[in-house]
Amino acid sequence: MTETPLVLTNARVLDPDAGRLHDRMSIRIEGGRIADVAPGADAPEGARKIDLAGKTVMPGLIDCHMHVVAWSLDLWGNMIAPTSLTALRAARVLEETLARGFTTVRDLGGADHGLVRGVEEGMIAGPRLVICGKGLSTTGGHCDLRQRTDDRPGIMSDRLGSMGVLVDGVDAVRATCRTYIKEGAQFIKIMANGGVSSPNDPIHALQFSRDEIAAAVEEAENAGLYVAAHVYTDAAIARCVDLGVRSLEHCNLIEAETAARAAERGCIAVPTLVAYEALAREGAALGLGADSVAKIDTVRDGGRRSLSILREAGLPMAFGSDLLGELRKYHCLEIDLLAEALSAADILRSLTTVGADLCGLAGTAGVIAPGASADLLVVDGNPLEDLGLLKDDGAHLRAIMARGTFYKSDLEGMA
Ligand SMILES: [Zn+2]
Repeated sequence: MTETPLVLTNARVLDPDAGRLHDRMSIRIEGGRIADVAPGADAPEGARKIDLAGKTVMPGLIDCHMHVVAWSLDLWGNMIAPTSLTALRAARVLEETLARGFTTVRDLGGADHGLVRGVEEGMIAGPRLVICGKGLSTTGGHCDLRQRTDDRPGIMSDRLGSMGVLVDGVDAVRATCRTYIKEGAQFIKIMANGGVSSPNDPIHALQFSRDEIAAAVEEAENAGLYVAAHVYTDAAIARCVDLGVRSLEHCNLIEAETAARAAERGCIAVPTLVAYEALAREGAALGLGADSVAKIDTVRDGGRRSLSILREAGLPMAFGSDLLGELRKYHCLEIDLLAEALSAADILRSLTTVGADLCGLAGTAGVIAPGASADLLVVDGNPLEDLGLLKDDGAHLRAIMARGTFYKSDLEGMA
């Protein structure tokens, strides 16, 4: 945390909602927060000052779909790894993510309150972490990693490296939601459709009964939270939208009518195109099973088509990557894939304000505004004209500040 106030002067400031830059602004940072943003104001007596003439300040990025405990693409190996080792590996993943400019990450299954605290207490250099506990999955569903003849009892959801928990029945769903909420979950994740990385569930499989999904939604809403669902097919998405699910993960095979209804109901979609692109490039070589490899193309091709459907329906999109293990190196490629269908301003909103909304952090993250957390990036050019500034694993970021502390900076005037 900054003790002496810090003032960044002469900066161009990105306003993601307006899709424009404001020139010659001063940003005063105090106690980890942005205290003031005003045109031309000079630094008060005793403040540290950095002149940012010619540079742009933008909000730190938000990734709304990560699994920070998925060290490797070998999900079973992740699960049986000692929890202490998984925590150390997650710290590495978090730091790597911060170095790419992400100052907030929503974890969609795996991370626990200990990692949240580790970041808050400064034990780990990492983005703020928004967690759900483990992803709820049915037996045989997207988190059931067992092969057909493997009848060992479920998965080891007590291990930090496990991304999911197997839950069957309305009462079990309620009890699991209540446990995760008690343990600090800020939303609930359910696997409501077949998936790529699981061996026994085709993409079209609907997972969980309507009653089970409704129970999860009720438990989340009772706590002022919401449900995020893993969904690909139009049928699975439509069912979740009707049952009150708010956060629609992936959405690769969505159709226009469902997208319109989701927009009407206030849902947010989280496309994760790079996950399939990366799996197609390297999944087989990294040991992804043949059953899984066979499923990649359906969702990969659908994903490309989904972006314009989501955009035309006016369904807000938050940025997500969902890269597992060694594939994390493709993180910035998601920006290129989005750019095939979306404008730079739309992509910047998905990386900032829309993501903040989904993380329950509207006004706190994703904006450079008084009262917000001091999560910001400094770049040399205009990101609205050149999204390349956000690529290459953070190489073009002149400074990264998270919660008022510089993680990285090569700016003049730094003490
Ligand atoms: Zn995921």
